[in-house]
Amino acid sequence: MSDFNLLIDGKMVPGDMTMPVLNPATEEVVAQCPRASKSQLDTAVAAAKAAFPAWAATSIEDRRKVVMKMADVIEANSGELARLLTAEQGKPLADATGEVLGMAAFFRYLGSLDLPMKVIENSGDRKVEAYRRPLGVVGAIIPWNYPLLILAFKLPSALIAGNTLIVKPAPTTPLASLRFAELIKDVVPKGVLNFITDANDLGGEMTKHPDIRKISFTGSTATGQKVMASAAQTLKRITLELGGNDAGIVLDDVDPKKVAPGIFEGAFQNSGQVCLAIKRLYVHESVYDELCDELVAIAKSTVVDDGSKQGTKLGPLQNKMQYEKVKTFLEDAHKNGKVVAGGAAMDRPGYFIEPTIVRDIKEGSKLVDEEQFGPVLPLIKYSDKDDVIRRANATTYGLGASVWSSDIKRAHEVATQLESGTVWINKHLDMAPHIPFGGAKQSGIGTEFAEEGLAEFTQLQIINGPPAA
Ligand code: NAD
Repeated sequence: MSDFNLLIDGKMVPGDMTMPVLNPATEEVVAQCPRASKSQLDTAVAAAKAAFPAWAATSIEDRRKVVMKMADVIEANSGELARLLTAEQGKPLADATGEVLGMAAFFRYLGSLDLPMKVIENSGDRKVEAYRRPLGVVGAIIPWNYPLLILAFKLPSALIAGNTLIVKPAPTTPLASLRFAELIKDVVPKGVLNFITDANDLGGEMTKHPDIRKISFTGSTATGQKVMASAAQTLKRITLELGGNDAGIVLDDVDPKKVAPGIFEGAFQNSGQVCLAIKRLYVHESVYDELCDELVAIAKSTVVDDGSKQGTKLGPLQNKMQYEKVKTFLEDAHKNGKVVAGGAAMDRPGYFIEPTIVRDIKEGSKLVDEEQFGPVLPLIKYSDKDDVIRRANATTYGLGASVWSSDIKRAHEVATQLESGTVWINKHLDMAPHIPFGGAKQSGIGTEFAEEGLAEFTQLQIINGPPAA
């Protein structure tokens, strides 16, 4: 495996320390990775601060060209990036390839957006204009479930808006990001884009750094709370995309055979390590047994293996900590419900857990009340529509939800009553760069993607004066 380096001030440099990155399918070392010191973070921030005035002064058209060139580089190197992603993250190679191509698509769409000046009023002696100015140095903090895609949710918008950027991947998945940094190093003016890595010790330094103006964070709600508290010291702008406990609600009129594959995909994609996965499935009593049997059949026929092997549908959990955490949800499932598929960690090296379906389980159990972030789905029976809406909303989370029905009007009526940032009908996890995305309640603050997401990387400036003669 080739050497990996940090990108600081236009140069690939070794870290002051190193750390191993493991393959979660084998627990073997994929590569030694640089680990930045606090002083390397400070050097990166100083470089980004120095690069800011010139970058902010370029036209959006010139910045767009840079982002589009990055998309070309991603596509030209998609095979290598996907293989690295599978090696460090664990996901099947086909999914990793999808993630890399999705990354390029987000660069292309978000990179095509504009920030036009808007005239708010032009009457008599008053002309009021609204401009979107860049903020300065932005910090992007990334989790380990979709390292490249979540990077692509942030980077193009931050740069197009005229900001400079410090990216920090998660400690267990830094390699594909560092390789990407190396590939685009000469596409971006020096200092505009910097990549550092850490062992969970520099995120907090970024959130309190006086020269970082905004943090765009994706990760758990617990860490998001720390980010918000720390950012308060310097009144940084924050966008927080946090955890979820998405409810899927299956109405009494579905054909269980028809909806089961979509529900399974919505719950088990990326081995359940998706912020917006279905994490609780509420099923009407009239279709409960039948849908349960369909999901069990799919779970039992799903190939779980090393993501680099052809035919693998689900890979391992990404890291040991998450693997140990999901095992505590399995214990709870055995105690509080009836496990009808899977139910155990697999007896092999790597962090593998069988796709697990749990029936006859209720609120009050850990598996229903908390975010499992793994391949374990509880099925909860209900009989009354208003009651299930109340139960779906009885959580501090509010990221996504879905309603499944053969009557779109009925499904829509339920959807409008759910307290979450996104509600899907007869699908789950359908995301695109032109559709704004964000969480309600403790699932986040702010929006990503589309014009709304781009606006969060800017400062609104109003100029109010008489019209020019
Ligand atoms: P995490 O919160 O442990 O880590 C996320 C990132 O924060 C990592 O880069 C980590 O190094 C960094 N970090 C750690 N301590 C920090 C601190 N004190 N200050 C600033 N940064 C710090 O999350 P994770 O375990 O990597 O990811 C899983 C969680 O992320 C789940 O809860 C999942 O639902 C959520 N998630 C949300 C979205 C979304 O868009 N809403 C997307 C993916 C994942």
